[in-house]
Amino acid sequence: MIEKVLIVKYGEIAMRGNNRRLFVTKLVESIRRNIDSEGNFYVVREQGRLIVEDRGGEMDFDRIIPKVICVLGILGVCPGIKLTDQSMDNICKRALGHMQKFYGDKPTTFKVVTKRSNKQYPLLSNEVSAEVGGYILENMPNLTVDIHNPQETVFVELRNEAYIYSKFIKGFGGLPYGSSGKGVSLLSGGIDSPVATFMMAKRGVEVSGVYFHSPPYTSERAKQKVIDLAKIISQYTGGFKLYVVPFTELQLYLLENVPEDKLTIFLKRSMMRAAEKIAENEHAMALITGDSIGQVASQTMQGINAINAVCKMPVLRPLAGMDKQEIVDIARRIGTFDTSIQPYEDCCTIFVAKHPETKPKTSVIDKIEYKLTQLPDFLEKALENTEVIEL
Ligand code: ATP
Ligand code: MG
Repeated sequence: MIEKVLIVKYGEIAMRGNNRRLFVTKLVESIRRNIDSEGNFYVVREQGRLIVEDRGGEMDFDRIIPKVICVLGILGVCPGIKLTDQSMDNICKRALGHMQKFYGDKPTTFKVVTKRSNKQYPLLSNEVSAEVGGYILENMPNLTVDIHNPQETVFVELRNEAYIYSKFIKGFGGLPYGSSGKGVSLLSGGIDSPVATFMMAKRGVEVSGVYFHSPPYTSERAKQKVIDLAKIISQYTGGFKLYVVPFTELQLYLLENVPEDKLTIFLKRSMMRAAEKIAENEHAMALITGDSIGQVASQTMQGINAINAVCKMPVLRPLAGMDKQEIVDIARRIGTFDTSIQPYEDCCTIFVAKHPETKPKTSVIDKIEYKLTQLPDFLEKALENTEVIEL
């Protein structure tokens, strides 16, 4: 008999009328994708939540929770139990068992909250809560009731079956992956762009990545680092397509032909053009970058204007208003930080100006670029030689 279940709560998608069915389906697909290889699981749709059941026997929460918690669109999960026998006697006993397992003899304050979706149930919600709470209290001297500010809340849900749970393990929230169309993310090996990629994935955008590689100025290790980051992101997205665009020749051409202090602006413009081409082929609707306003010379408002001027697609910059520390906190939480800080630089020092222009004028940049007659050819060649890596 299945008793241990994982109750999956989702938030925002519950509010979206017509799309709701589709979103819940996506959520179920993502959960299945993450746990199917782990055993024989059922994902049951209940009103406003999903219930994961292990048909193979006792669910191993330690193994299954990490696999489910990284599904985007989930508010959180609660390890709990499902009871077919809904008698008060059984509910009390099982609720006690649940509390003993999770709280042992640790002093804890608690309350019981009952949700009675099954309107046929012979007792009212408050009556169930009082009875269950009383029973737990009698049997666990380490617990005390605190109605207003309890450390733990025990939920009893009376539906077709009864569910009991207390712990809530927080997920990432957002929307189910793939429910918002496609975007192409400029993914470097730094801290920022993996976070930006994740943030858009979290809003349901199906993401693929583009990395501009300049061997031998950027090493194989630098490329591997980006692949590693893409792999980490793929834990949330179920897969990830990474385009690696060889940019050495184009970069050397720019180095020879543009003023050193504006080199980065020209390079970034070329990156945006290439990424936009890839995005068009992918039928994507937006580009994504890890820019944060004022963080470096090219990320001033003027710099962003001069760079943005070359593309038609919207460029999503989810980190635009964030401080470095906020970005680092997310990078740690999603697991990209340690890889991002490995010392393989994504750009060689010969391509970085000592005193980069911080307030470029788009009109000036346009004028210089107009004379770079070979630039479109270099761009085309780079795109032709692009490597696609499926993770
Ligand atoms: P990150 O931490 O993401 O590397 P950064 O702080 O180093 O960003 P920049 O180097 O100015 O900032 O890059 C700004 C954005 O441009 C990056 O977030 C990324 O989206 C994109 N970008 C920069 N270099 C590359 C590259 N080699 N390949 C792909 N995208 C890049
Ligand atoms: Mg960088």
